[in-house]
Amino acid sequence: MRYSAPTTVDEALATLTAEPNARVFAGATDLIPQLRSGRPEPALIVDLKRIDRLRGVTLTDATWTIGAATPTSHLTRNAGFAADFPGLTEAAGLIGSDQIQNRSSLGGNLCNASPAADSVPALIANDARVVVASASGERVVRVDGITIGPGATSLAPGEFIIEFQLDRPAASTSDAYLRMIPRTEMDIAVVGAAARITTDGGLCTGATIVLGAVAPIATRVNDAETALVGSTFTDDALAAVAAAASAACDPIDDKRGTIAYRRQVAGVLARRAVALARMRSTASSNESSQT
Ligand SMILES: Cc1cc2nc3c(=O)[nH]c(=O)nc-3n(C[C@H](O)[C@H](O)[C@H](O)COP(=O)(O)OP(=O)(O)OC[C@H]3O[C@@H](n4cnc5c(N)ncnc54)[C@H](O)[C@@H]3O)c2cc1C
Repeated sequence: MRYSAPTTVDEALATLTAEPNARVFAGATDLIPQLRSGRPEPALIVDLKRIDRLRGVTLTDATWTIGAATPTSHLTRNAGFAADFPGLTEAAGLIGSDQIQNRSSLGGNLCNASPAADSVPALIANDARVVVASASGERVVRVDGITIGPGATSLAPGEFIIEFQLDRPAASTSDAYLRMIPRTEMDIAVVGAAARITTDGGLCTGATIVLGAVAPIATRVNDAETALVGSTFTDDALAAVAAAASAACDPIDDKRGTIAYRRQVAGVLARRAVALARMRSTASSNESSQT
């Protein structure tokens, strides 16, 4: 197995075109365990971390850009980013340990395509986009268009993700991500729930709710969003959120939890994530009215 470390997007694309049996990587926190567990080795592994454009967290005008190979610890340590996206920051901060977060990237978390990937529900809830590098040019794709099944993405051979783009949240809008694991840390989600909520006074004027680890890919819960928008977060509306989240699950039954358990936990976490995002959206509207 050969190793290559291109320093530009074009060089990486040329390298991938010349060797069809190649695999890109960033932190390799998924890649190395997979190779060690006996998965077929590619002829070439292509390290994306030396490409400047794939590293960094920047805010330009009203859009955050995160290089796809940026260690997730750079997100959790960025106070401005965390203020705009507390839920996505929480999700990034749940990946493995400090050591893992100094390697792990959003690009790897998304493209490994695990149903339990922690950052993906929060990225989808926040309408994140990715810029995809391809021999035919760059294109912008919504994050929910990348994962198509466990371990499978919509990227064609030779393509890779350059960066993520996230528009700053609108006024009185915030997010939250909660997950359930059987241990206190270093485990993968039995259920993950992300919510982004917009409020106007006590009224819910916008809601996006996405579940992870309860279906082959992250699942948006449209019925929960419909139940919430126009409500004042009454007990009935929150009960409808929980019921819709449980109903949207198509989980597996394994040692971490039964199907019935995952369904129930999905409802509980969706409701709690909504409550947390609501509290944050209200706090952000109070802050902006005081400045
Ligand atoms: C001990 C441990 C604990 C973990 N805990 C968690 C956890 O709690 N939550 C969680 O979600 N994950 C967890 N993980 C999994 C892993 O750390 C994350 O998925 C991480 O975000 C992967 O990022 P990476 O840069 O290391 O990916 P890599 O291993 O470099 O790549 C993963 C996959 O994505 C592809 N890829 C990487 N970058 C790109 C790109 N820019 N464009 C296209 N394809 C790309 C690679 O080809 C590969 O198939 C854990 C892993 C370990 C070893």
